[in-house]
Amino acid sequence: MGDDLPGTLVVLSGPSGVGKTTVAQRLVDRGGYVRSVSVTTRQRREGEVDGLDYRFITHAEFEQLQADGELVESAEVHGKLYGTPKEPVRQALRRHMACLLVIDVYGGQQVRGHGYDSLLVFLAPPDQSELAKRLAQRGTEDYAQQTRRLQRVEMEVRLAAEIPYNHLVVNDNLERCVAEVHQHVQEHRRRLQERKAAGQTLYPGLEMDTA
Ligand code: 5GP
Repeated sequence: MGDDLPGTLVVLSGPSGVGKTTVAQRLVDRGGYVRSVSVTTRQRREGEVDGLDYRFITHAEFEQLQADGELVESAEVHGKLYGTPKEPVRQALRRHMACLLVIDVYGGQQVRGHGYDSLLVFLAPPDQSELAKRLAQRGTEDYAQQTRRLQRVEMEVRLAAEIPYNHLVVNDNLERCVAEVHQHVQEHRRRLQERKAAGQTLYPGLEMDTA
């Protein structure tokens, strides 16, 4: 990408442990994609880099960003605040990149609600037991946290269907899953090109020139 097709917002949601981060990284590696770095009030986990995985900020800083209208969307997940800053998204769109938002379904709902011409993809695990296994192997949450995350799955799948998300992609095989998401993104960008040619505003409220 970075080609003539318009940039776009791609929301990637799905349960904890489904592989969203890995899929997003593979897309970035193939070129034409940037990953939006969210701000969060949660603690940094071991191995995470501030500014790369997240921008770790205080509650007060988060509220300031919200008050300034500088968040595309925000949500409380597992008792912590998460949000997508606007400016990096604007920059990515100007560069005709696909900007990946790895966010929860409530965030996806807000992006949809803004009327942005975005693509919403829900990544689903092959089955619940596989997800439980991956969460346990990852070992970044204790037992109680793992259980809370697993209990959320059903709600997320239901809400994604209602919003509605554009595509549900099963992450049973990483390469196949990445290829499928990429194909959906390219088709979406070609449709955007047609809408743009017809004079439609693709990202109302982001106050930017996507020419
Ligand atoms: P984690 O704490 O495991 O990194 O993320 C927990 C959940 O928060 C995941 O479902 C993740 O997609 C979601 N999340 C991360 N950043 C954002 C964001 O900026 N906005 C929203 N709405 N959700 C986010």
